[in-house]
This record gives sequence, structure tokens and C-alpha cells, in this order.
Amino acid sequence: MYRCRTPAELRSFWRIYFRTHFAGPGEDLKPSTGGPLAAYVNHGRWVADCPLCGAGIAVAVDGAVGCCLECGIEYEIQVPPDSVIEEATPILLARPTRGPHRIRANWYPFPGVFGAVLALKAETPADLALENELHMGAV
Ligand SMILES: [Zn+2]
Repeated sequence: MYRCRTPAELRSFWRIYFRTHFAGPGEDLKPSTGGPLAAYVNHGRWVADCPLCGAGIAVAVDGAVGCCLECGIEYEIQVPPDSVIEEATPILLARPTRGPHRIRANWYPFPGVFGAVLALKAETPADLALENELHMGAV
């Protein structure tokens, strides 16, 4: 993520970005005092929504962390188990990324409100495969 190879590099990137774009004098990143945020896949990227400002948060699935670069708050991120991600990933990757009838690689593995989308229930890999079949034919 952001061409960072380690969690320490990623945190440094977050700190520099926050300080140069949004932080007040002397302000630094701070940890969230709330529970983890639910991650979801939007246009092929893992993201979460900042509960304070609504900004999208790029999520590092490895380590399940994210940071709102506008608020400067680091969050724990809830992601599905590795086995579920491994099952869902090829289904999402099979989706076209271009063309007039493309379906986007979106996945809401937890119920809740994500951006402008209300996910009434958690989508399973089987749900994703059914969507592929409905929109693309058998995969
Ligand atoms: Zn925020």
C-alpha cells in the first residue's frame, strides 16, 4: 500500500501525509479509542469509512490497520478470516474492470453502512459467485 513494504513504512507515510495536509501545529497521529472498523472492498481496494469524518480509509489487510489521513486517527480494522478472503479473491478478480457492463469488484463482508451503500447482510463468497454468474455467466 502506497508502495510501503513494512508496517513501519506505512505508518511513516501516514504521519507525513497527515502532518503535511491536515494536521494543526504539533498535531500527530493518534490511536482510535473505539472498536475496530469493518473493512470492505470498493473498486477492488480494501477500505473502511472513518466514523468521525466519513472519509475513506485505505486498509492494510495484513495487520488489519488503517488510518484516516484527514483526522489522523489510526484504527484497528476488522477483516474476514484469511480463508474467506482467499475464497473470495479469485471471484472478485474474475470481474471485468473495463467496459460498459462491467461490474465492479465490490464486497461487503460485514453488514452495515459503507459509504453510500447499506449492506443489509454480510456477503459471502457464494454470494459473490452468484453475482458473477448473474452478470457474467458461469465463472
Ligand atoms: Zn476521519
